[in-house]
Amino acid sequence: MDGRNFRVHSDEVTKATYEALERRGVTKQDIADIVLEMQRPYNEGLTIEHCVESVESVLKKRELQHAILVGVEMDELAEQGKLSRPLQQIVGSDEGLFGVDEMIGLGAVLTYGSIAVTTFGHLDKNKIGIIRKLDTKIGGQVHTFLDDLIASIAACASSRIAHRTRDLEEQGKTFEDLKPSETAPENDIDGATT
Ligand code: MG
Repeated sequence: MDGRNFRVHSDEVTKATYEALERRGVTKQDIADIVLEMQRPYNEGLTIEHCVESVESVLKKRELQHAILVGVEMDELAEQGKLSRPLQQIVGSDEGLFGVDEMIGLGAVLTYGSIAVTTFGHLDKNKIGIIRKLDTKIGGQVHTFLDDLIASIAACASSRIAHRTRDLEEQGKTFEDLKPSETAPENDIDGATT
């Protein structure tokens, strides 16, 4: 079929995104653990369930989905030795000056605002949780793009929570007053990115 005239349904893209993360051994829980570590100091009553909900919300966004699909595909092709020279060597060895992996991760956080950008920078530098594990290259696996993608998802989910906290404060509430299913605000920063 002519790719120019064929529009892939959003459901298919969402499904492919979840499958890509699963193939690479990353769970929503892994990412939510990072979000909890980032946001717990600032959010009374924040639980892992709230963080999982935030990760799920972020994973519905096309900006993130497209970044994940591109990045994971690059890692997988590099792992299979299917990129051309010299890109194969650059991606396969996670060349320090490459930077395209960071830029894809950074680009995907921009719609979640400044907290997402600064959290992404922090995670990129300090490699919290599963990001640290992915950065430790074991058994010929390539995670050149994946570590930045996970940092990106976690940064966006953290930013959502930070903005939600302010809304709650203004209503005299904290996360303690919310069930995880109630964490999606009506008009938050999240709404502008679909
Ligand atoms: Mg990287």
